[in-house]
Amino acid sequence: MRKSKRSAYKHLSLCLFGALLLSVAGCSRKEPVVAPKDRILMANDILYYGTEETGPMGDADCVKGEILSTVQPGEIPTENGQSNFGGVGNPYTFDFGDGGIMVFVEEEYFWFYREEKGAQTAVEEGQQQAVKEGEQQAEEEREQEEEETMIVEPLESLDPSLLPLNFVFSSGAGAWGTMISLEKDGSFTGGYNDSDMGDTGEGYAHGKHYHCTFQGRFGNFQKVDEYTYGMTLEEIRYEPEPGTEEIRDEILYIGSEPYGLSEGKEFLLYLPETPAEGLTEEFLSWWPGRYTWDGKTGRALGCYGIRNVEMEYGFFSDDVCPDCRGPVSPQTGVCGECGKAVGN
Ligand SMILES: [Zn+2]
Repeated sequence: MRKSKRSAYKHLSLCLFGALLLSVAGCSRKEPVVAPKDRILMANDILYYGTEETGPMGDADCVKGEILSTVQPGEIPTENGQSNFGGVGNPYTFDFGDGGIMVFVEEEYFWFYREEKGAQTAVEEGQQQAVKEGEQQAEEEREQEEEETMIVEPLESLDPSLLPLNFVFSSGAGAWGTMISLEKDGSFTGGYNDSDMGDTGEGYAHGKHYHCTFQGRFGNFQKVDEYTYGMTLEEIRYEPEPGTEEIRDEILYIGSEPYGLSEGKEFLLYLPETPAEGLTEEFLSWWPGRYTWDGKTGRALGCYGIRNVEMEYGFFSDDVCPDCRGPVSPQTGVCGECGKAVGN
């Protein structure tokens, strides 16, 4: 189990309530029958692939949106909010960096994951085969280009399966989070979301949602010590304009600054081996591991951390394997590289 789930569970009732409201429209229609593993949904410009895994809502912080359109079973969605299994009107949740979202299909929440190694559908394999050769060549050229511009320690040494490296800044106190997807060249994309479903008004019976998406770049990486790199926030752009209001589906969307990144320029990047006891209390107050640490015993972070030095905010990745730094599945607690059970 992932430690940070604890905070998400606090919002279970809110999320579930909102999700059920949103799902009413989708329940009554006749839908094509598509096996869970053949389901694909596009969100955040990413294809999420269905699994047979179901679960209670609460594994993600809240409802992100609903399925807006659908293509034929077997086809690949090409727009955000598009499925290939029907379900128009059904809600799906945020991906807060786990690579997983939950989607309401046929009365249940199913886990969908970003493209996983070896988990491609037959449909996709067929389509990929057709364009493979041209793509392979382009890919090789891209990789060559990337190699030439790679300058950044320590991200350049990361296992490619960890990239982009996802970080979340969140707390147990509210249904909010800022997510950063960090690439090895220091560039990043991300989003800030804060749902207040209780704050309703005329035209927005499902409450308010503060949000923005952003892109930017960290640079000037400098090694501070064995575990720590200094970096400077060199650029960040976000949209929509703060204060911009728009009502969609009975929710009032309000443009906001990216919480955690809108103030402060100097940041520290911590490696998973960083001893927790040397870090500031303020920074550690955002660390998911704080729930299972007594504050005294020697213990490493166990994940990558980004600290906003001026504001003392903390962004954290999922746990990584202490043996090989491979990605640990938040669902099973098992290292995807060496199979070690890391757990809690
Ligand atoms: Zn491992």
